Amino acid sequence: MRYIIISDIHGNIEALKSVLTIADEHPDAHIVSLGDIVGYGADPGACLSIVQGIARISLAGNHDHAAVGLTDIRYFNTYAREAVLWTSGQLTENERGYLRGLPLFKRAEGAYFLVHSSPDSPEEWRYIITLSDAQESFPAFEEPLCFVGHSHSPMVFGIAPNGRCHREYRETISLKEGYRYIVNVGSVGQPRDGDWRACIVVYDDQAKTIEYKRLEYDLPSAQKKIIDAGLPSFLARRLQQGV
Ligand code: ZN
Repeated sequence: MRYIIISDIHGNIEALKSVLTIADEHPDAHIVSLGDIVGYGADPGACLSIVQGIARISLAGNHDHAAVGLTDIRYFNTYAREAVLWTSGQLTENERGYLRGLPLFKRAEGAYFLVHSSPDSPEEWRYIITLSDAQESFPAFEEPLCFVGHSHSPMVFGIAPNGRCHREYRETISLKEGYRYIVNVGSVGQPRDGDWRACIVVYDDQAKTIEYKRLEYDLPSAQKKIIDAGLPSFLARRLQQGV
């Protein structure tokens, strides 16, 4: 079985459409969304309706919760807060209901654990960025694999049977027998690893591979919509810098 795992779309419909080309290449794949469908970008409603249509599993992110008042936004930075307030004003009652109903995590016993932020405290929206962040998170789940988003930085953290942790990021990563992994799938709509292209993961549970795909999309159009919507211009600039 193949899984197409996406996260942090952030209202960027142009980027999300590029993902659909990969979905077309693998019609049998299960599509999983790890949250932050909205926030920052100018098309929250359109992104929600696509995710609702294609995702077998759809989880809540902090921006999804913030847009419907489920998370305190005092700790958001100025740009994020402004975007959350704007997004909140765009959503229909149906869309709000969908966001409110999204679960924080999902697990398939013996197979995988899915969560937006971290498996130890999903509602606290902790980031897994460093090796020691990962080391702290491994005991919080039993499955061989945990898929996360949230930091917008694609990265695979592995732990060997002897407890030693490492991290790696390249196009295709083969999963080793006896190891466990935390896989950050990167961000569709606002990558922050210096590469502006949309980022997704294709996980093949037979071949035991994690494949990162980077997809070009209509960046100028996504930027123009952010400006036209009156959102902070920094949010348009950062898209092309991948920060
Ligand atoms: Zn995010």
